[in-house]
Amino acid sequence: MPSRNILVINCGSSSIKFALINEHHTHTTLIGLAERLGTADAQINWQLDGEKNHLSVPNADHRAALAEILPLVENASGGHLDGIGHRVVHGGEHFTAACRLDPVSLDGIRALAPLAPLHNPANALGIEATMRLYPQLPQVAVFDTAFHQTLPPHAYRYALPEYLYSEHAVRRYGFHGTSHRYVSARAAEMSGLELENSSWLVAHLGNGCSTCAIVNGQSRDTSMGLTPLEGLAMGTRSGDVDANLHSHLVRTLGWSIEQIDRMLNHDSGLLGLSGLSNDMRTLQQASSEGHAGATLAIEVFCYRLAKSLAAMSCALPQLDGVVFTGGIGENSALVRSLTLTHLKLLNLKLDEPANQLATRGAAGQINAEGHPRVLVIPTNEERQIALDTLALLDA
Ligand code: ADP
Repeated sequence: MPSRNILVINCGSSSIKFALINEHHTHTTLIGLAERLGTADAQINWQLDGEKNHLSVPNADHRAALAEILPLVENASGGHLDGIGHRVVHGGEHFTAACRLDPVSLDGIRALAPLAPLHNPANALGIEATMRLYPQLPQVAVFDTAFHQTLPPHAYRYALPEYLYSEHAVRRYGFHGTSHRYVSARAAEMSGLELENSSWLVAHLGNGCSTCAIVNGQSRDTSMGLTPLEGLAMGTRSGDVDANLHSHLVRTLGWSIEQIDRMLNHDSGLLGLSGLSNDMRTLQQASSEGHAGATLAIEVFCYRLAKSLAAMSCALPQLDGVVFTGGIGENSALVRSLTLTHLKLLNLKLDEPANQLATRGAAGQINAEGHPRVLVIPTNEERQIALDTLALLDA
């Protein structure tokens, strides 16, 4: 059988990320981003075999942008496109795994909009457009939340009145499931362990950040909750705060719920603490030049990350390793090193030269000898989505 090609699509409210993945090739031949959709500046940027291309598509919406993208994909795949995998943010309790898309499952995704008002409607728009443009191609939805549907009730329930869960679906869901699943499988592979008989702590550290406890290939706890705001300090998100902060700000500053929402999601985290940037590279540079806010932001980020990893260890029967992934996890030796200095009670210790070398997509083991395994593993959510799509095509 010739090797198959899957187009992976990730639709945001005004953007579409896309990548063409071949089941047997690790490199991505076509990768691109359509952005500022619905505005006069709408544009599509893509790389085909490493060569950069650009197309202005003024006022294009999702459907118009996809109509431009799909011929590029056809071309790059030599006319052999076998399916489309869509990243969908929220699957609620209904979607416990990836699923084939049809009008019924699409309605299910739309119905979850109250849980992900910014994301699910955008995901549904992309699905609808590609289903219209390519009715003959099988399409699959892969959910960020699905991997965490194995959390036990004591991990997913909030200590809130029962009816908020049973009548209003208020519980912890968790996100980044595709990444946590991909890197934990890679961790077992790299370590010569069976995934079905191994236990991992994973820190996915990108602009959004989360930790996850994975036992025998299943998520048992994770730091994000009802929404991606819970848990770690992130690029612009606060992570955990006292829930009474909301009423405090209403009472003392007269803020609206929208102002509080914006502050917690867009003005907080590394950006809020440093007053400088949400970007870890910028902060590391500024901190090395003596910027106190940048130094504090990095320290808070690492201390909270260490606390979260320690908390996640409650879900493990044993520790086979800690995995760092995402742009920060894969590249920042400083963050990995500072974080592990807070985890001496878990006996974690780095081999510093190995830690310094693990950057720019290099996977590797970085713990000191005689200490629990610590791995740096580049995530590849697009590849995992393509693999899930292929698995459903074969089912
Ligand atoms: P997203 O969640 O948007 O996919 P990424 O996984 O690309 O984000 O992570 C972005 C973060 O990774 C940024 O904070 C960026 O500064 C950080 N990062 C990327 N390269 C480095 C590096 N060499 N050193 C430190 N941080 C890095």
